[in-house]
Amino acid sequence: DAAIEFKDVDFGYEGNRQILHKVSFRVEPGTKVAIVGPSGAGKSTISRILFRFYDVNAGRVTIDGQDIRDVTQASLRAAIGIVPQDTVLFNDTIRYNIAYGRPGASDAEIEEAARLASIDTFIERLPDGFDTIVGERGLKLSGGEKQRVAIARTILKGPQILLFDEATSALDSKTEKEIQASLSEVSQNRTTLVIAHRLSTVVDADEILVLDGGRIVERGTHTHLLEMQ
Ligand code: ADP
Ligand code: ADP
Repeated sequence: DAAIEFKDVDFGYEGNRQILHKVSFRVEPGTKVAIVGPSGAGKSTISRILFRFYDVNAGRVTIDGQDIRDVTQASLRAAIGIVPQDTVLFNDTIRYNIAYGRPGASDAEIEEAARLASIDTFIERLPDGFDTIVGERGLKLSGGEKQRVAIARTILKGPQILLFDEATSALDSKTEKEIQASLSEVSQNRTTLVIAHRLSTVVDADEILVLDGGRIVERGTHTHLLEMQ
């Protein structure tokens, strides 16, 4: 498992004001760190930097001690598996939807990924909608179940790091609970970075960073942060 480290990272989009100010954090191998904060705080900017869509202006970003500027884009993408918040599923079996994560994966590997994401009971079924070829009506998947498919697809790729991106919108509380559950199951013993809107999505993170105005203004466990409020 890999460690991620941001050390004194300053960043501003080209020609614009500074967005990140001396951001430092470390995700130890096999642990889960979450970044929460209001819109515009700089959360997605951190994930874009991790993918090297942008380079830092000052400071350093490393994965397993290696500066990401010395890593090829291809190996960076292989190392980090993104679980997006909104997943579009193909109108084909859940098995197919998982297999898409890594063409050539064996049945056993696909089933193992499905088991880890707790969707193994319905992988032969179709997602929402009616499949005219098979002539069968699909399952009505909940938001959480859809995300489990995305999780299985990402796990199948075998990334060293999981990145959950929950930043884009507020979830209804049922979906939030479902996602919380799958997130804690699947992130056990995996280096995981979660970008989230709200503290309630990331209760069991080993460390939570509160980002505001591009600065880490608070850090600690969920319990610790609740006590601070
Ligand atoms: P968050 O994910 O916390 O909502 P972002 O990282 O998306 O925040 O954005 C942080 C700040 O950077 C915001 O003020 C946003 O307007 C600005 N920003 C985001 N993308 C760009 C860009 N491509 N060019 C200039 N400014 C940007
Ligand atoms: P795919 O699912 O198509 O195989 P990858 O696993 O290669 O995608 O992931 C990299 C892609 O994910 C990038 O091209 C990028 O556009 C997209 N992406 C999704 N969420 C984010 C995010 N928060 N920050 C940066 N890129 C993201």
